[in-house]
Amino acid sequence: PTSAVVNEALTVMGGGLVGSLLALYLARHGHTVDVFERREDLRRSGLVEARSINLALSDRGWRALEGVGIADAVRQVAIPMHQRIMHDARGQLTAQPYGQHNQAIYSVSRAGLNRTLLDLVEQEPRVRLHFNQQCRRVDLRTRTLELLHTETGVTQTRTYEHLFGTDGAFSAVRGAMQKTERFNFSQHYLDYGYKELTIEAGPAGEWRLEKHALHIWPRGQYMMIALPNLDGSFNCTLFFPYEGPASFSSLQTPEQVRAFFQEVFADALPLMPNLEQEFFENPTSSLVTIRCYPWSMADEVVLLGDASHAIVPFYGQGMNAGFEDCTILDSLLQEFGPDWGAVFREFQQRRKPNTDAMADLAVYNFEEMRDRVADPRFLLQKKIESKISAQYPDQWLPLYSQVTFSHRPYAEALANGQRQEQIMQRLMPLIQTEADYDRPEVQQQVAAEMASR
Ligand code: FAD
Repeated sequence: PTSAVVNEALTVMGGGLVGSLLALYLARHGHTVDVFERREDLRRSGLVEARSINLALSDRGWRALEGVGIADAVRQVAIPMHQRIMHDARGQLTAQPYGQHNQAIYSVSRAGLNRTLLDLVEQEPRVRLHFNQQCRRVDLRTRTLELLHTETGVTQTRTYEHLFGTDGAFSAVRGAMQKTERFNFSQHYLDYGYKELTIEAGPAGEWRLEKHALHIWPRGQYMMIALPNLDGSFNCTLFFPYEGPASFSSLQTPEQVRAFFQEVFADALPLMPNLEQEFFENPTSSLVTIRCYPWSMADEVVLLGDASHAIVPFYGQGMNAGFEDCTILDSLLQEFGPDWGAVFREFQQRRKPNTDAMADLAVYNFEEMRDRVADPRFLLQKKIESKISAQYPDQWLPLYSQVTFSHRPYAEALANGQRQEQIMQRLMPLIQTEADYDRPEVQQQVAAEMASR
């Protein structure tokens, strides 16, 4: 059965993290918005997620949430993580603060955040939410959508005036644009997959590892990380090759999994009583970088969030970047008003170099997290960088801080980071210990580098 609806409102395809925040921003600009979401309503399904999956929220994300007045509500359920704690194979711990002055990234539940956003959207009279609506086809020529109701099987077609594609990495809206002339598209998969696992809470609901930290078990070619949950558990993610001697394909039986964890993640294993079951029941998911361009078509369609720039998760920036898309779009709406053609064009031009830079940074950070953070020379370099930053605060903000604790465009952060790395390559041969930083020849060299910047 098919029914046709003519639609004058703005259309947002995908009510995930970015789509729901975007709908709020558009409504605050006085627009009526229809949001279509393939899944059922997370809040009404009555389902408590079998697994709690966390994301790291940082300054760019916070700013976007503040823009619609919901940062405080989210902060109530977010756990600050002030440091990385590395676990070596013998269970020895090394801590590395994320920033200065107690700066932190925040562990938040993905579903909880999405629910909070949907609650807010629902209170907004200008937004209509439509769940169980899967976009099957977009006809860009006639501005028509085909939507399948996933429960009833009814298909409807609707027209749109302005369509916002926030339907994630495998966007149906982008799929239609991919078939147009001169549309650039690439996707690149890592040879690694990931699996979610759990470190259980203690008997009284206590955290059995330091709560205010992101834990990393760096092992060269692979790693596990853990982020705290409110209930005392930690959500772990194993990033692991698909193939090879230590890989998903090499672990086929519960005994092999246990033996492997005993060998390489010995301190975590006793905290993971359901390891074998989770390992075989939870899916192995892939890691992809998606780039495309243009992101828009005239004043008709625009892509935001993962639909236009899906990145690998190693900098904890995918959602933050998607939220920042909303901040940028908001500022363009203030600048241009509802001249959608101008807004969409400016948006893609300003944003594309930055999300490309973020995609590169995210891939780079995988190597840093799984390998370099276990190297004492690398950790020494990081300590020296933070000393430089303390001594020359106006001239040196560490790359991680530029990405995570600033609103500097990502492309600028990447370029600055590359310049800083060159300086460190010249400086580190003079330095063997932290105390060497105060030696006169090191101080002179640092002063000279700062003067020439
Ligand atoms: P999504 O969250 O994918 O939402 C898209 C929505 O569209 C979904 O609700 C989906 O159901 C709906 N949809 C899809 N197709 C259709 C269709 N055809 N019709 C209708 N609706 C549709 N980011 C961070 O900032 N910090 C982190 O710590 C972090 N960790 C991550 C860890 C992992 C393992 C992964 C994989 C990603 C991580 N990310 C992180 C990235 C983050 O998850 C994404 O960038 C973010 O979810 C993008 O939001 P989005 O709304 O654009 O897309």
